[in-house]
Amino acid sequence: MLNLLVHLSMGCSYELRLYPMLKKVKRSCWCGCDTAHSVFEVSTCQGEIFNLVQCDGCDLYCLYPAPDEVTLLRYYDTEYYGASPLKFAGPIARAIAILQNQRAKRVAKFVRQGGKILDIGCGNGRFLKEMKRQGYSVEGTELTKASALRVSKEADLLIHIGDLLSLELAERSYDAVTFWHVIEHVRNPLEILRKVNILLKDNGILFLSLPNQDSWQAKAFGKYWFHIDPPRHLFGFGTISLISLLEKCGFSVECVNTFSLEYNPFGFMQSMLNSIGISRDRAYGTLKLSSSTPQLTKITDLLLLSMLSLPAIAFELLAGCCGAGATMNIMAHKR
Ligand SMILES: [Zn+2]
Repeated sequence: MLNLLVHLSMGCSYELRLYPMLKKVKRSCWCGCDTAHSVFEVSTCQGEIFNLVQCDGCDLYCLYPAPDEVTLLRYYDTEYYGASPLKFAGPIARAIAILQNQRAKRVAKFVRQGGKILDIGCGNGRFLKEMKRQGYSVEGTELTKASALRVSKEADLLIHIGDLLSLELAERSYDAVTFWHVIEHVRNPLEILRKVNILLKDNGILFLSLPNQDSWQAKAFGKYWFHIDPPRHLFGFGTISLISLLEKCGFSVECVNTFSLEYNPFGFMQSMLNSIGISRDRAYGTLKLSSSTPQLTKITDLLLLSMLSLPAIAFELLAGCCGAGATMNIMAHKR
């Protein structure tokens, strides 16, 4: 940004801020390109500003410069993970549970009965529990000991603690590996996906769900888009940048769809509220069990969300039919 001080004849002065159309930055991407351009600055729920840039080669979006570990830790506190296994109140938690069980049923259609499944960043372990109930051999990973112990204790699941790259797991031993809204959080998706490729059996399957930066929702709301989730989402993928990364890591993509009842309509509603000047992601915070939102604000947020729910579902149904929904669900095979 260029700042110019303009002196006028009356003796006063004004500062002009000139925004060049495409500010270039030097950033090496795994696609081989060395330059990116600024897209916009985005503010977090704590009021910090980050710069979103897009690679000139593969259209990948990322925060630049990438936030450091100390900054990120402030955004991955107990409020993010939730102090209890339930992040949201009763009816919402039940609706999410039903939708997550649907995810398990979808995976079961493609993975042989009794096969071995690894879920990266398994969260509350619901997906793994459902797969186990259906007769699969399941394992998960979690970054912190506290969350891993909580899941493994409650559901008697095998949870590996730590970053996938540091874990010693048997090569060519898994029938499927899953990432449910995780890959956009990691610092090194290229290395992670290459390791996943090594862990999978021949023709093993990779399932990924993540926000779609090429969606109508992302384009319509820009910096107010809920699923940018700064600074936790370090990368923003569209179809082109994700498929080119997967191919680089030894996968061939079988199918992509962009509809998610769990993520898309709410993303529309929260983005709309962000864009009309309500503090970033306030309604999302209101819905959490750990919320300390005042009662009147809660009621206002719930009313606004219910008013927006039908337009949000209609918008995302149409977007999903046109391949422009706010979530990408991808299935890829190991080549
Ligand atoms: Zn690139």
